[in-house]
Amino acid sequence: MALIVQKFGGSSVANATRVMHVAQTITDTYKAGNDVVVVVSAQGDTTDDLIEKANEINPKGSKREMDMLLTAGEQISIALLAMAIEKIGCPVVSLLGWQAGFHTDRAYGAARIESIKPERLQSELDKRKIVIVAGFQGINKADDLTTLGRGGSDTSAVALAAALHADLCQIYTDVTGVYTADPRKVSNAKKLTDITYDEMLELATLGAQVLNNRSVEMAKKYNVEIEVLSSMVKEPGTIVREVAKMEKMLIRGVTKDTDIARISVVGMKDVPGNAFKLFSSLAAKNINIDVILQSVGRDGTKDISFTCARANAEQAQELLEDLFSDEGAVVSSDTTVAKVSIVGAGMQSHSGTASKMFGALYEAGINIGMISTSEITVSVLIPKEDADKAVAAVHRAFFG
Ligand code: ASP
Ligand code: MG
Repeated sequence: MALIVQKFGGSSVANATRVMHVAQTITDTYKAGNDVVVVVSAQGDTTDDLIEKANEINPKGSKREMDMLLTAGEQISIALLAMAIEKIGCPVVSLLGWQAGFHTDRAYGAARIESIKPERLQSELDKRKIVIVAGFQGINKADDLTTLGRGGSDTSAVALAAALHADLCQIYTDVTGVYTADPRKVSNAKKLTDITYDEMLELATLGAQVLNNRSVEMAKKYNVEIEVLSSMVKEPGTIVREVAKMEKMLIRGVTKDTDIARISVVGMKDVPGNAFKLFSSLAAKNINIDVILQSVGRDGTKDISFTCARANAEQAQELLEDLFSDEGAVVSSDTTVAKVSIVGAGMQSHSGTASKMFGALYEAGINIGMISTSEITVSVLIPKEDADKAVAAVHRAFFG
């Protein structure tokens, strides 16, 4: 007998048929003799719909009231799922985040879990009940409801698995696991048997929309083993854990991110402190910077280019114009770029991984704008229109 935490996302419980299907998966696990704790998201597009309703009335409503509203989505799904399990005839109880002991900081809309006090939950498990917990929510010191940020139910599930010392945390979703590339775009993308936390973190951050990256950070910190699997198709998923079998794979995946912009500051003074001035001013506005390129100085001037989220481009450009126009620099922003990356711990011990990637792009006739590398990634900036072609060409070079 094991203690298993199972998490089901919004699409897995979108309607009555799916709720009944999920209830079957849960009760099968329970009847096999396991203790089962379930974390569930709001049904389908419920969270988006609630946000839209709020915007109709007051787009500037307070974050506190927004959280009061959004937590209702998960309240609906836990009750419906519990009723489905009652119908099958198994003992069950649903709990809101606060009832399950989720205590968070005060940051409405982006709260961090501070502690989980699972006494109530544990006493329900001791009575051999299936426990259904509302994901994405908790309570703060002011006794107000809070939410963990979009996609936060993954984090709820991993945190609960850590607090309960669960044997496994299964994240059920609408794909059958983690793939070497987006299987909807690359026909021979392979499902990975397992992957390390660091690799998964890179993939999650680089745009593979399988797991929320905060949940992976938390799983790494508390050493929670995660299985990503499909709620519709019955087959083993991908295991995320500290040490993965390398399966002779140099790299684990190819991803693209098209939601970025390149900002260039051309002709700034080539003096000490200018790069600091530039990046610290962006950091002060919480604008995250990714790939950075600085030219070699000439005639007393230099150029710096970097990428950021497309949503931050306008603000970054205005900020830098205010800072550098006086010294004659020209700031421009380009949103027609995409970032394509390869990820894999295997490349640390192999030379030639980057050149293999560049070779594949050259053969596909794709021009590289900027390059950045880390221990387990290589990323290139290319024209956005070439992004899918680039992913396919790079995937072919590494996976055949
Ligand atoms: N329902 C929330 C959202 O849509 C939380 C989640 O799905 O994980 O962001
Ligand atoms: Mg959702």
